[in-house]
Amino acid sequence: YAKADGRGTFRFFEPDMDAQLQSRRALEVNLRKAITNGEFELFYQPQINLKDNEIGGFEALLRWHHPERGLVPPSEFIPVVEDTGLIIPLGDWIIEQACKEAAGWPRNINVAVNLSPVQFRNRSLVQSVSRALALSGLAPNRLELEITESVLLQDTDATVSTLHQLRRLGVRIAMDDFGTGYSSLSYLRSFPFDKLKIDQSFVREMSQRADCLAIVQSVANLGASLGMPTVAEGVETEEQLLQIQAAGCTDAQGYYFGRPKPAQDMVHTLAALRHTTKVA
Ligand code: C2E
Ligand code: MG
Ligand code: MG
Ligand code: MG
Repeated sequence: YAKADGRGTFRFFEPDMDAQLQSRRALEVNLRKAITNGEFELFYQPQINLKDNEIGGFEALLRWHHPERGLVPPSEFIPVVEDTGLIIPLGDWIIEQACKEAAGWPRNINVAVNLSPVQFRNRSLVQSVSRALALSGLAPNRLELEITESVLLQDTDATVSTLHQLRRLGVRIAMDDFGTGYSSLSYLRSFPFDKLKIDQSFVREMSQRADCLAIVQSVANLGASLGMPTVAEGVETEEQLLQIQAAGCTDAQGYYFGRPKPAQDMVHTLAALRHTTKVA
C-alpha cells in the first residue's frame, strides 16, 4: 500500500483522486441501499396539448430521497446508476411504478417514462415493458417511452429492431432533447418517432437569440410535415408560450404549466380533469 511519507516514496493515488474515488464508492453503496430501502420516488410533470389547452399526460421524473442530503436531483446520480448497471433494476422499478400509478388516472391521460441508453442496450427491456403493462393493466397506448439521440449512436440495427419491438407492444416512442445530439435527421429516416421533444435549451434562449427561435420553428415545421407532434420543453413564461404556439409546436411542458410533483399531490389536478373530460 501507499506510504504516507512524501520523499522518495510512491503513492498509488494522488490524495484528491483517492478522495474522489471514495466519495464515488460511498455514493454507489448508498444507491444500492436506496433501491432496497425504497428511497426513490417518481414525480410527475404535466404535458399540455396546445390545441385544446388540456393536459394530455405527465412525464415521470425520478427523485431520490437521501436520508441525510434530502432530495437529490437525477443529474447527480443517474450517471453512477448507469455506470454500475444499477439502472437495470432501478429502470424496471421506474417502468412498473409509472404504469401502476398511471393505471389509476383518467383513461385519456398518458404517462411518459425516460429510458437510459444503458437500459436500451439490455436484452430484457422489451420484456420489462410488457411485464409492467401486464402487471398494471395500463393500456399500452397510454405509455410513452422517451429516448435521447445517444441511444441511436451505437448498433443502429439492434436499436431500430428494439424500437420496433416496443412499438409492436403498442407503446409510443418519443425523441427527447431533440436537437442536442448528432445526425438527428437520419434517425428520423431509420425510425418513425411518435413525438419530438424540442430541447429546453432552445426554448430558454428563443426570445434573445434568433437562431434558437429559427431552430424551434424548423423542428415544429419538420414535425408537422412528417406528421409528428412536437413538444416544447422548459416553457417558463407566457412570452415563451406565445412564441412556441406561433412556431407551430403542438404540445408544451414546463414550469409555466406546472413543476414536477409527487403522485399524491396530483389528486386535485386529476380530480379537476375528471370533471372537465368526458372519459373517466
Ligand atoms: P428530461 O427527460 O429532458 O426531463 C426534463 C427536465 O427538465 C426535468 O429535470 C424537469 O424537471 C426539467 N424541467 C421541466 N420544466 C422545466 C422548466 O420550465 N425549466 C427548467 N429549468 N427545467 C424544467 P429533472 O427532473 O432534474 O431530470 C433531468 C434529466 O434526468 C431528465 O431530462 C432525464 O434525462 C433524466 N431523468 C429523470 N428521470 C429519469 C428516469 O426515471 N430515468 C432516466 N433514465 N432518466 C431520468
Ligand atoms: Mg424526458
Ligand atoms: Mg428533455
Ligand atoms: Mg434531458
